[in-house]
Amino acid sequence: MRIGVSKEIKTHEYRVGLTPASVRELVEHGHEVLVETDAGDAIGLVDAMYESAGARIAADAAIECINCGICYAACDTVRWNADYLGPAALNRAWTLVNDARDAGNAQRLAAVAAGGGCYDCHSHQSCQEHCPQTLNPTASIAGLKRRTMAAYLRGEIEA
Ligand code: SF4
Ligand code: SF4
Repeated sequence: MRIGVSKEIKTHEYRVGLTPASVRELVEHGHEVLVETDAGDAIGLVDAMYESAGARIAADAAIECINCGICYAACDTVRWNADYLGPAALNRAWTLVNDARDAGNAQRLAAVAAGGGCYDCHSHQSCQEHCPQTLNPTASIAGLKRRTMAAYLRGEIEA
């Protein structure tokens, strides 16, 4: 069975669906566990702990994009906003932002926070509905919004 653990979005809610110990048990019983990036961060359960318990961090799934462009064609915002990068490119940016080997994150976050970037997404989710890989570009873009906001508050990128 494939089991997903999402990050809580309610204000001041820091609980997470599974601890790394529970993940280990599930993996040992043959289940696949996907954990959303930073799902347990607020209570010290960092992504590395989930990975060492055998989970995949959800952003990894975005790597399975086959560049078909269907999400781009399905995106309502692309139709009226010529500057918008669109779901496929932003989904790819999210995979790079989560790649520990990547050294260009400050520039990448600044680029996707600029006009035509992640803040132009209106979360319609048409991209997600049509992806043949059952990926979720809307979630990747939401991740970019969180990361760019955190980078801005830390003074790593400019408004
Ligand atoms: S529809 Fe899915 S697989 Fe195709 S480009 Fe978009 S994210 Fe990638
Ligand atoms: S969620 Fe964002 S990227 Fe996806 S279809 Fe809607 S506006 Fe486009």
